[in-house]
Amino acid sequence: MKKTLLILIAISTFFSVDIFAQNGYCGMTTNEQIIIKERMMQNRANAVNSVQVRTGVMWVPIQFHILEDNDGGNRVNAVKVFEMLCALNEDYLDQDIQFYMKDKFNMVQSTSVNSNPNIGGPNNNPFAQTVMTQQKVLNAINIFITKDIPGGLGQTLGFYSPIFDWLVLKRSEVSAAKVETLTHELGHFFTLAHPFLGWDGDPYDPDVHGDPAPLNSPGGVKTELLNGSNCTFAADGFCDTKPNYLFGFGWPNCNFTDVVNDPNGENVGPTVQEENYMAYFTGCATEFTPEQKAAIAADLDNRPSLQTTLDLDITPFTEAVTQNFPINGEETPLFNIVGFDWEPVAGATSYFVEVDRQPTFSFDPQLKFVSGGTYVEFEDVFDANKTYYWRIKPIKEGNLCTGDVASTSFKTGSITGILDIKEVLNHTISPNPVGNGELLNVSIETNDSFDAVINVYNLSGQRLKEVNTTFAIGRTNHQLSINDLSEGMYIISIESENGVLTDKVFVTR
Ligand SMILES: [Zn+2]
Repeated sequence: MKKTLLILIAISTFFSVDIFAQNGYCGMTTNEQIIIKERMMQNRANAVNSVQVRTGVMWVPIQFHILEDNDGGNRVNAVKVFEMLCALNEDYLDQDIQFYMKDKFNMVQSTSVNSNPNIGGPNNNPFAQTVMTQQKVLNAINIFITKDIPGGLGQTLGFYSPIFDWLVLKRSEVSAAKVETLTHELGHFFTLAHPFLGWDGDPYDPDVHGDPAPLNSPGGVKTELLNGSNCTFAADGFCDTKPNYLFGFGWPNCNFTDVVNDPNGENVGPTVQEENYMAYFTGCATEFTPEQKAAIAADLDNRPSLQTTLDLDITPFTEAVTQNFPINGEETPLFNIVGFDWEPVAGATSYFVEVDRQPTFSFDPQLKFVSGGTYVEFEDVFDANKTYYWRIKPIKEGNLCTGDVASTSFKTGSITGILDIKEVLNHTISPNPVGNGELLNVSIETNDSFDAVINVYNLSGQRLKEVNTTFAIGRTNHQLSINDLSEGMYIISIESENGVLTDKVFVTR
């Protein structure tokens, strides 16, 4: 074992490849797992008296808290969260447990917590406790996604806090391909300890710990024996998870071949379950054992706040979303207020809309969830005369796996919606909304006369009207006929040599 590790470390140093960058580990301490193991033991004792049988799928709510730096940077790619949740549901499908997003993402701005969400221990960040306790919601599994999680063996990819009852996930682990990290941490959430409990952070090494392995692990938990005689209380307390003294640490593949003698001198190497979600053979995990599943079910039974009677729609989306405006580099009339418009998708309960400078949505993406409509505005996030990208995904709570993400580009115009004609003392546009047969009254009070053009744009950026006029000192009213406009939102802009005023007006019919 030691020889293998040394070789791996030597190789990784030689090639400047950080093996831990690929094989990070879970941040739960032995003591934290002893707490959840005790809860598991209690659940198991209670279940002997009352066995609950679930009929059908239980939909369990998750609240994602997405950490970002104080300047809005360094946060997870939101579409990857959907993809991860989709993959997570595949991992839990055979247990009739499915997860859904209880609410839209909760964006949390804190550079401090984003770089260190640890509470207690050697990397304690007291501020994280303040922030995360404030953000935690009831009636959902709270998952905080951060840039970093300092500490641990190699690097920490995620952890469950039994004290605060929340999960923390490093953003590098947020994707469909790396879902095993969340599947694993949720195992902890539902009382599963590592099969190698007691060897956490101190993988078995015959030169260090003796050969055969000692009766007690370095963490003080009984070492599990091959013959099964202590399996109900040794290590994780499950008999169908076989002895494992952190054999996955640094092991490069899914076939563990070392000879390891348990305290009785019996080789436990061949029985190791590399495929177990809690074993942490990175990239090998595909299953929980029946006893682990029973423990998850028992813990969910004991968490009424997470139980729902929902029967969510899981049918796939059959149509793609069509973006209407702005698309394919079209220019928007304004730059500080930009409206996005798309066609409704059958079955969508909401839409996720994201905008960014980069087509990869990795620069400084701004995001919104839209329910009950097919139009959304973003304000004060764009510069003038710049190319941006926006993408949209239709959402239904029960199925985040389908509903393709549609993406396109647009260019911002040079007109701002800010009051910036300096001689104008005040201006009003009324009535708003304006109805059939009514005239739109543009009223300006100015301390200097000026020539202006009153333009009317639709939300697609087309100019529908253009009226040249002069506003004299004092108050001037200019009346516009809107009878030829169909129902909807319009932008009225008053453009002069000295600046531009814009307003939005809704026309009813
Ligand atoms: Zn773990």
